[in-house]
Amino acid sequence: MLESDLQINKNCYQIDIQQWGVPRVGTCYVVKSEKIFLIDAGTSQTTEKVLKTLEEFKIDPSSINAMIITHEHYDHGAGAAELLKKMPTTIVLASEKTAEILKDPSEFLETSKKHYGEAAGLVSPFPPVKNVEIIEEGDRIDLGEGVTLEVVTLPGHTPGSIGLFESKTKTFFAGDAVCNYNAQYEFYMPPSFPELFDYETYLKSLDKMLSYDLVYLCMGHFGTQEQPKAKQVLKKAAETAKDWKKIIVDIYGKTKSEEKVYNALLEKYGDNEYVKNFPELIRKTVLSQLIRGYVISLKL
Ligand SMILES: [Zn+2]
Repeated sequence: MLESDLQINKNCYQIDIQQWGVPRVGTCYVVKSEKIFLIDAGTSQTTEKVLKTLEEFKIDPSSINAMIITHEHYDHGAGAAELLKKMPTTIVLASEKTAEILKDPSEFLETSKKHYGEAAGLVSPFPPVKNVEIIEEGDRIDLGEGVTLEVVTLPGHTPGSIGLFESKTKTFFAGDAVCNYNAQYEFYMPPSFPELFDYETYLKSLDKMLSYDLVYLCMGHFGTQEQPKAKQVLKKAAETAKDWKKIIVDIYGKTKSEEKVYNALLEKYGDNEYVKNFPELIRKTVLSQLIRGYVISLKL
């Protein structure tokens, strides 16, 4: 078990999926009461790690009642089909937009290939899931003993993004609706992947999360923050997103050069050890995509 695989509180657990083989990049979560729910499924390459950690938490995969996928992206939904082989009775729940992609990921994979370039292999395979039940804003799912999951729509990162609020433990599962955050290096990066990102709705969703009486904030990338840090992270995510917008509008608006924006962002944020530690291909691929997400969303 990794240090980053942990029990958050009485009912909630964090699993480090070791996305791209690296610790502290991607997460899924478990909520356990009379019923057991898995939140997000990782990629098709992280299934073994998820199953191993469930075993270490003494949770039998076949006892998991449902799997909720927070949004359309491969690193949350592509592991679902593989996990279901060990969870034959588990139902899959998602927003309508996410369900469409889970049932038929082909278009999503085409778009990803276009943006990922030589790193396109990172996002596949994404085997489809046949049966997905739709959940909506305001739905309250009862897991027993007072543990509930309230569905909160959080568009912006993607149109189908949802969060889940568990009010007994005051735990908010945010998917990728907050940002890419690394606590060790105090590093923030907007989650502006093309072509599903929408800048203005993203900021509104950050505000929506701030209005919740949460104690634990659980993010897709990466991990859990506890109050008072949790709400500081939400505020800093908004500040960082606005700063990126300023830089991108200013430089891309004048030069139409992604490269110049990339260099300006590296100059401002690249001193952080977290950025320095990233392999060049991933750093360049990820940052370029995040810039393009802004360019598309802001119609620059
Ligand atoms: Zn995402």
